[in-house]
Amino acid sequence: MNPLLTQFDAAPFPKIKNEHFKPAFLQTIEETRAEIDAIVNNTSVPTFENTIEALEFSGHQLDRISSVFFNLNAAETNEEIQKIAQEVSPLLSEFSNDITLNVALFKRVKAVFEQKHHLKLTVEQDTLLDKKYKSFSRNGANLPEEKKKRLREIDAELSKLKLKFGENILAETNTYQKHLSDESQLDGLPEGEREAAAQLAKSKGKEGWLVTLDYPSYIPFMKYAKNREIRKELSLAFGSKGFHNDELDNQENVHRIANLRHERAVLLGYNTHAHFVLEERMAETPEKVYEFLNELMQKAKPAAEREFKQLEDFAKDLDGIDQLQKWDGSYYSEKLKQKLFELDDEKLKPYFKLENVIDGVFKVAEKLFGLKFEEVFDIDTYHDEVKTFQVYDTKGDHVSLFYADFHPREGKRGGAWMTSFKPQYVINGGNVRPHISNVCNFTRSTPSKPSLLTFNEVTTLFHEFGHGLHGMLANTTYPSLSGTSVYWDFVELPSQVLENWCYEKEALELFATHYETGEVIPMDLVQKIKESATFQEGMATLRQLSFGLLDMSWHGADPSKLTNVKKHETIAFEGTELYPQTPETCMSTAFSHIFQGGYSSGYYSYKWAEVLDADAFAYFKEKGIFNKEVATKFKDSVLSKGGTEKPMVLYKRFRGAEPKVEALLERAGLLKK
Ligand SMILES: [Zn+2]
Repeated sequence: MNPLLTQFDAAPFPKIKNEHFKPAFLQTIEETRAEIDAIVNNTSVPTFENTIEALEFSGHQLDRISSVFFNLNAAETNEEIQKIAQEVSPLLSEFSNDITLNVALFKRVKAVFEQKHHLKLTVEQDTLLDKKYKSFSRNGANLPEEKKKRLREIDAELSKLKLKFGENILAETNTYQKHLSDESQLDGLPEGEREAAAQLAKSKGKEGWLVTLDYPSYIPFMKYAKNREIRKELSLAFGSKGFHNDELDNQENVHRIANLRHERAVLLGYNTHAHFVLEERMAETPEKVYEFLNELMQKAKPAAEREFKQLEDFAKDLDGIDQLQKWDGSYYSEKLKQKLFELDDEKLKPYFKLENVIDGVFKVAEKLFGLKFEEVFDIDTYHDEVKTFQVYDTKGDHVSLFYADFHPREGKRGGAWMTSFKPQYVINGGNVRPHISNVCNFTRSTPSKPSLLTFNEVTTLFHEFGHGLHGMLANTTYPSLSGTSVYWDFVELPSQVLENWCYEKEALELFATHYETGEVIPMDLVQKIKESATFQEGMATLRQLSFGLLDMSWHGADPSKLTNVKKHETIAFEGTELYPQTPETCMSTAFSHIFQGGYSSGYYSYKWAEVLDADAFAYFKEKGIFNKEVATKFKDSVLSKGGTEKPMVLYKRFRGAEPKVEALLERAGLLKK
């Protein structure tokens, strides 16, 4: 018996063998196809229940298998699993295309959508109907055949162009190497970085040292290397990827991508690509995004200019630099930061033993939301290191199953993330509780030392746990609207807001005690952490805003008249530039986030999410960081609601007003003179 084809609750990991996956996928895809056919072939008139709800609850087993499989592929993979992923991924995307292109199915969905005002739907049902309808209409389901055909052509060309864009950047990155043969050229670099550079040279069969445009090589060199000429050369090479008028040039690709996106949006009835994208975002319109970016720019600029002046003076004093250039920025910033703070991870780590931090985040969740975490040992896991907890509320009702997987392993990808093995939803009057997981890569304990976290790792743990709470406290009817299934400029609110507790005395006292002496972390250390966290925040803000503005400049207006990438970019950057211009470089031709990845018309959301979390936390600060009333409001209006209503509506219900940028400016220290 294939364990994946049984009705399992917690995933039965020990019973699952790799050879179970492919047949389970194939069988459940066919079963789901039959469920969809049954909806289409239903002879009764289309209703919300027999069409929208039926569609929502179809493919349940397929979804469960997919989450088990793809979570494994991320946290405990091997060559065999990777090979299966390559085989099943195209099958799954083909199947999902079959659904969105299913004309007969859309006909029924549309029939329900068109009578929505007579249906007396709940708010959540209304949202679900809208979401289902748009999953078809935004892919061209309403277009006449001729235009549908054009849409497919555009999509096919876009995916080729995006691929090409990325390949060019990768080739540019891999082609460039700076070979250093004289050790004095590495002056300033810490020992570890020198070794890495020597290793890199050796791996390419070279003597001496090698620096490349890969982040792990490039970033430390720019930060520490004293040699200004080499920094300049590297900086210009890094900044001119895809901008050499050769076969790897991306200028034409940028134009093509922007124009095709615009054409696609217009075909679907939107003014611009940004209008199309933002329809499904909290920000909603390009106007709102521009307003947001420009307001933040005006308010952050004085601080950025002050910081830049301070950096200029510092570089002048230290090395007689007359004109600070882009290639000097991170070098002098690092020196200035060291001078101002003398913060060292090693000083902080003894206060953050992993077990204490986990205990701390649980205590915070208990004080805020009344949750109790009980470690259990009878739940199957995919690795011995994975811990499992049952989560209960104050009444003792079961809230969630929680998996925690903290340490790096060969089969785990880097970084940290939250995921789920089972969504929350309501069926036949029963509230099915979710299975949520946090996966991280924290240093393991040794025989002589426990696992001690850097402060950055502590905030990471709180961050992922914040996403986890969004999943655990979910309380909606439909699984596709549950937990973290929200617009993506809203999804970082629960995670980022929780990080704020890491800087508060009242919270740190609960868990930040020295692992040997039991002493609570000294508050002057915490104060230093806070200050260093906002070091050069004005400059960093301006830089983020410049990327957001560049993104909007390509997608928020008709790009067909634009002929010169560099010229266009220079105009978009006006107002955010602190350093002198460099005609050799171009940002757009290497802006993979927006031209290759999924961030087009979405770069603003990094800052947007910060504004949200700062504004939300200001409310807690005002009433007390463990104030039950505010916490309950946050749970009831945000955490439990998932994507059942528009995020701005949910947020206002919690906060009583739209988010304002002031709390972020205040927290970032941008308001002081
Ligand atoms: Zn996150």
